[in-house]
Amino acid sequence: MARQPQHSAVPDSVVDRLVTEVKGEVFLPDDPGYEAELDGFNRIGRHRPAVIVGAVTADDIAAAVRLGGELGLPIGVQATGHGIAAPAENTVLVTTHRMNAVAVDPIARIARVEAGAQWHQVIASAAYHGLAPLNGSSHLVGVVGYTLGGGLGPLGRLYGYAADLVTRIHLVTADGQHRTVTRDTDEDLFWALRGGKGNFGIVTALEFGLVPVARLYGGGLYFPGAQAATVLDAWRAWTADLPETLTSSVALLRVPGLHQVPDHPPGELAVHIRIAYAGTAEDGERLLRPLRAAGTLLADTVADMPYSAVADIHQDPTEPLPYHERNIVLREFDEDAVAALVAAAGPDSGCGDPMVEVRHLGGALSRPAPVPNAVARSGEFTLSTLSLPGSDDVVLHRLADWSAGRRYLNFLAGADTAAAARDCFDEATYARLLQVKRRHDPHNLFRVGHALLP
Ligand SMILES: Cc1cc2nc3c(=O)[nH]c(=O)nc-3n(C[C@H](O)[C@H](O)[C@H](O)COP(=O)(O)OP(=O)(O)OC[C@H]3O[C@@H](n4cnc5c(N)ncnc54)[C@H](O)[C@@H]3O)c2cc1C
Repeated sequence: MARQPQHSAVPDSVVDRLVTEVKGEVFLPDDPGYEAELDGFNRIGRHRPAVIVGAVTADDIAAAVRLGGELGLPIGVQATGHGIAAPAENTVLVTTHRMNAVAVDPIARIARVEAGAQWHQVIASAAYHGLAPLNGSSHLVGVVGYTLGGGLGPLGRLYGYAADLVTRIHLVTADGQHRTVTRDTDEDLFWALRGGKGNFGIVTALEFGLVPVARLYGGGLYFPGAQAATVLDAWRAWTADLPETLTSSVALLRVPGLHQVPDHPPGELAVHIRIAYAGTAEDGERLLRPLRAAGTLLADTVADMPYSAVADIHQDPTEPLPYHERNIVLREFDEDAVAALVAAAGPDSGCGDPMVEVRHLGGALSRPAPVPNAVARSGEFTLSTLSLPGSDDVVLHRLADWSAGRRYLNFLAGADTAAAARDCFDEATYARLLQVKRRHDPHNLFRVGHALLP
């Protein structure tokens, strides 16, 4: 395709070569389509790359990586844009949404996905065979970004992090080479990729195990915000003695509309307990009895459901919006922590965060992965906030006394979280990640996103 010369960090001759080499699309800043290509889910910030490669093949990704190396430009990747950190300028950005094939092998119980696949695709394909992936709360999140950052979802306490089930990773490393990495081919890189996120290359395809879960007893319990103190305390006490088949979380919501509670005033605080029980409805009902009695139920959607409807449990937003996402991992969530959270984010707190969420860890989320990986496994709960653009990190500061001294890599978005990868790992893990980084990306090309800082 003939192009008009542009003022760009990428010389015209290089662009011409790239356009010939790449089967997908190439966008420069003045091209029609450049802006639309950058549209992602989180509108908190927008990358301004020198060139975008809209990849359709793994070779396209390799060409983009070689270009970044040749020009010495940082290389970033965007699938859905749910997890943008600091918007990056003058980079080579690979967009992967065109590469979204998904295949399920029901006999081996393995899914193979391309770089841009989203969870709803895998959930639907696996459900057809009575299987489930370890997806997260939103079906629209990208499989690869989620899994490389750990992957904490509704089956977490029973089966662990999504990264724990990864069996094979196809990627392009900083030298522009295609690699297939398993526990047997390169133990260190396989370990680092599962937890260290986009710091070691661009994943072109991923293979991971599926679990035999066809149905859940799941859904949400909604209570008035005025009862936040009693409901949170009841949930806290209840989590102390639960089977691993039950994964739950609680959110303080201040959102424009609650689909499940149609007459709830927009923006008014509500408490939403989310339940995923991989057992019978009868047992689930018995387990939930104390929770249902914790306050005045505004809505109760917990029932027997197909796993394919798993995204209904959390009711995460589906339309793009701007937000900071921040978190700390909590050592414990005791009565005093509940009181501190209510003071920071409860009905009389003045808190404006649309969502403040506590997720229960433990079970397989706290045990070492069957094949060791870099996912941090400290603490008993995560506390995360989804905040409006420009708002400060108030709630987490007020719960600092309960912090396990770690953050969870996936629950970070927005420029102020760009350097937070350092807080996600203990010293030994971080040192080993840097070692692997030096070996596979010596010029630190993959530093867009939540980068490891040497
Ligand atoms: C509504 C919502 C719900 C969520 N629920 C959960 C949840 O339940 N559990 C959980 O653990 N997380 C959850 N997350 C966080 C989510 O997992 C991260 O934001 C994740 O990074 C999103 O990946 P993405 O590819 O969709 O986003 P993108 O913004 O497109 O990518 C984010 C980062 O992922 C990495 N990445 C993406 N693709 C590749 C690739 N091909 N190769 C290498 N690196 C890559 C890069 O570092 C990139 O910067 C949620 C986020 C939102 C907004």
